[in-house]
Amino acid sequence: MASEIAVRAATITTWLEEIAISVEAERDHLTQLDAAIGDGDHGVNMSRGFEAVGKAVAGQGDSVPPGQLLILTGKTLVSTVGGASGPLWGTAFRRAGRTLGKEPEFDAAQLADALDAAVAGVQELGAAEPNDKTMVDALLPACAVYRDGLEAGDGIEKALEAAAEAAEEGALATVPLQARKGRASYLGERSIGHQDPGATSAALIIAALERAVQRAG
Ligand code: ADP
Ligand code: MG
Repeated sequence: MASEIAVRAATITTWLEEIAISVEAERDHLTQLDAAIGDGDHGVNMSRGFEAVGKAVAGQGDSVPPGQLLILTGKTLVSTVGGASGPLWGTAFRRAGRTLGKEPEFDAAQLADALDAAVAGVQELGAAEPNDKTMVDALLPACAVYRDGLEAGDGIEKALEAAAEAAEEGALATVPLQARKGRASYLGERSIGHQDPGATSAALIIAALERAVQRAG
């Protein structure tokens, strides 16, 4: 695996900004997806959460370790996002942050560990397995493809590009699935034929990471 320094605090700040821009741009779409199989608040939840993250992170400065920024992000999401996705994303970012610790910067392989820890946290809290039609269906393939890319000798940018594609494909692949976790599961078979909102926003979050790392490089 590549061991050169790949990610600094500024890259994380850019990632968080990119997420805020993209969930805001897709807010109505995410809300429509959630209106079909949930309660229609996912776009508002995500955009409110990442707007609050932007405010919390602003003023922290680039000397704050990336891991600490991610922990702050997680705490902010837990306290500002209601519903299922707040605690789940809160756990994801806090776990990623804890994995990175207080190092000022980290490499592509450490990013793989942080992403894996984030998804493991989501699965521990929400108990979703693959194909349950949740954010896990975008996140797990993204993590696997990212790690595979690094192991095949790809650089971080190429591996993240593939990860973002895998997340997007994972989100699209939720359409024919029946929801087994969260609010959409109450619909039973009627959840079939709709794209999962949380998997869709998860793909936006991975795509934002790809852009942030590209911009830093
Ligand atoms: P709520 O369902 O409480 O209104 P949101 O609308 O913000 O919360 O988020 C819904 C998304 O959360 C779903 O589309 C799904 O991807 C995700 N989700 C719900 N429950 C779980 C779970 N147990 N594990 C993983 N993801 C889940
Ligand atoms: Mg909802």
